[in-house]
Amino acid sequence: MDLYEHQARQLFAEHGIAVPRAEVVDSAATAQRAARRLGGRVVVKAQVRTGGRGKAGGVKMAADPAAAALTARQMLGMDIRGHTVRTVMLAEPVDVEAEFYVSYVLDRASSAFLAIASAEGGMEIEEVAATRPDAVTRVPVDPAEGVTDDKARQIAEAAGLPAEAAPVLSRLWQVLTREDALLVEVNPLVRTVDGRILALDGKVTLDDNARFRQSRWGTDGRDPHGDPLEAEAAAKGLNYVKLDGEVGIIGNGAGLVMSTLDVVAGCGGRPANFLDIGGGASARVMADGLSLILSDPDVKSVLVNVFGGITACDAVADGIVQALETVRVTKPLVVRLDGNNAPRGRAILDARAHPLVHQAATMDGAARRAARLADAA
Ligand code: GDP
Ligand code: MN
Repeated sequence: MDLYEHQARQLFAEHGIAVPRAEVVDSAATAQRAARRLGGRVVVKAQVRTGGRGKAGGVKMAADPAAAALTARQMLGMDIRGHTVRTVMLAEPVDVEAEFYVSYVLDRASSAFLAIASAEGGMEIEEVAATRPDAVTRVPVDPAEGVTDDKARQIAEAAGLPAEAAPVLSRLWQVLTREDALLVEVNPLVRTVDGRILALDGKVTLDDNARFRQSRWGTDGRDPHGDPLEAEAAAKGLNYVKLDGEVGIIGNGAGLVMSTLDVVAGCGGRPANFLDIGGGASARVMADGLSLILSDPDVKSVLVNVFGGITACDAVADGIVQALETVRVTKPLVVRLDGNNAPRGRAILDARAHPLVHQAATMDGAARRAARLADAA
């Protein structure tokens, strides 16, 4: 789970990394009062879980509380890279002398953590890495040793950061390890004209496997403003991910669902979502899953791709029939059943003979059909 900037900076502050004074608000009126408390002139920052807000108009200077109110009003409700702005943060402006980049990421390839640092902060690090690869320093961190003061100095020196930035590197490591994060990033970390080192922006991605320890970030750690269907699916224990195409996809097992997405994309379809009903799925789970997928307005056709192992295809077929009784099905369904009890499953669907339910013998054939049906809708 990604945290918002204001949550990330809360963690930074708790671990001794200095951040400018700031307040989070959700209306123009509260923005005006907050700006007054912060001294009048403020930076107004859209709180969305995506980077590049600056370029997208999500970071603006306001000269006084009235301007802060106006800017907040403009930003609230704005769309930044597909994320709606629900809150803005007002921060005390600082006079920046230099901007740096520092982060720790889990590097799965080397089964270790990587410190990434650059004396050229402010821009997106991917851009710096692409245009000036020498300006980005990567230092592996042994998770058992962690970032000692020595190691922090070594990283800072290798990246050309000022020596005063080293303590931030060891504190940021504490944020990563103590808060169950997979990624912590400060961009920019700045040196102010009066010589202070401050984190002006922060990104923290928490490890969802530690969600049971993260109740402070909200209802079981999920985004209260996230996709409503994702929340509903989570409540039902279903693995559902919203995508931006038109073909709804249900499968059993992450591997099969992933390859189904690929096959649909391969024949020109665009997956609208991804629902993994898991192994050993019951008729109930299938029915819940199908009604969820059908309630996504972007879905034009649904592909159910099940390879029965522990999951029996007749249970899946029963679930589809149950869903047909309880939900008004207005979109075509293509069902491919194979494996455990497939003939029985197919017979159940044949017997139901619903005009919008089509069966396909192969995954490729099913994907092509679902993509064509979505296209024709
Ligand atoms: P991002 O675009 O989503 O990464 O948002 P940032 O919080 O990193 O802000 C973008 C840029 O705005 C930063 O790189 C800074 O150059 C600038 N910025 C943000 N806050 C301040 C501030 O308080 N003072 C100054 N001078 N610049 C700021
Ligand atoms: Mn930034």
